[in-house]
Amino acid sequence: MTLSSSGLPDLTQAQLEAWAVQARTHALEGYLPDYIPLLAQANPTWFAVQVKGEGNRLHTFGDTSLSFPLMSVVKPFVLLFLLEQLGRAAVFSQVGMEPSDAPFNSLIQLQADQGWPRNPMINSGAIVLASLIPGQDAHTRCEGLRQWLNQRADCQLFLDKQMLNSVLSLTNERNRALMSLLEQTHHLEAGEVALDTYNYVCCLSGTVADLSRIGMLLVQGKGVVSPEHSRVVNAIMTTCGLYEASGRFAVQVGLPTKSGVSGAMLSVVPNQGVIACYSPPLDLMGNSKASQFFLQQMVQALRLSVFG
Ligand code: GLU
Repeated sequence: MTLSSSGLPDLTQAQLEAWAVQARTHALEGYLPDYIPLLAQANPTWFAVQVKGEGNRLHTFGDTSLSFPLMSVVKPFVLLFLLEQLGRAAVFSQVGMEPSDAPFNSLIQLQADQGWPRNPMINSGAIVLASLIPGQDAHTRCEGLRQWLNQRADCQLFLDKQMLNSVLSLTNERNRALMSLLEQTHHLEAGEVALDTYNYVCCLSGTVADLSRIGMLLVQGKGVVSPEHSRVVNAIMTTCGLYEASGRFAVQVGLPTKSGVSGAMLSVVPNQGVIACYSPPLDLMGNSKASQFFLQQMVQALRLSVFG
């Protein structure tokens, strides 16, 4: 087989639309999460994608006016923010960089690790990182992160208060148990504020355009954040970004990627650009069905994998 394409600049609008139309049919096989009531009310047919390259090269498809909460897609940006604010040594004295083959909110994993949070992409690690964001309370911390991102990435993320109320309307026993164990094992102080902050930052919301703009911070050479810090974040997204599906995803797609339970998914094509997708129905590991299908088609056709 001869594959002539090799990079984001070769993408055509016709290709993008053809993959998106196919991807939408795969969404119907997914499910909506029920532990956040407002996410369960999403329309399963919602779909939007934006591909952004260097020099403001842009392709979009679907309902790009839809806004959605980042949920776990915020985690790489909490990590990036803290690397920039505190430095690498301070951050990785509090959280590991090892992948986990357990679900994103696994208490068993945290127990096996004696309370040491394995990586910043699972909930235990993200709760600990939320505790390091400067500010007295969750609102101030979230606002600091929001303003930093909006300023650095020139976008318009906002805190979706309705979504936050929905997140807080049901007690998330799993996240509370993670917080307690982190506190008991002295890996976390002031756990309530940290958990609160985690819930707030997960509800930072925007469109696929906002998602692709923050994603561009991770495309090295932008000069807005340290290339070394974006390299670290990209590496951890590659090994940990899709939770227990990360290994398989590295083979099938091979791009630093982060998923969120809202159906958001962000992939970085190092030195080239980003792919921002939104489609709410998820697979059993909590990753957007249609977004994964779309990425697979695109990466194979344009040979985008970082592994060659
Ligand atoms: N706030 C969600 C939770 O903790 C985020 C999970 C996700 O997006 O994967 O359950």
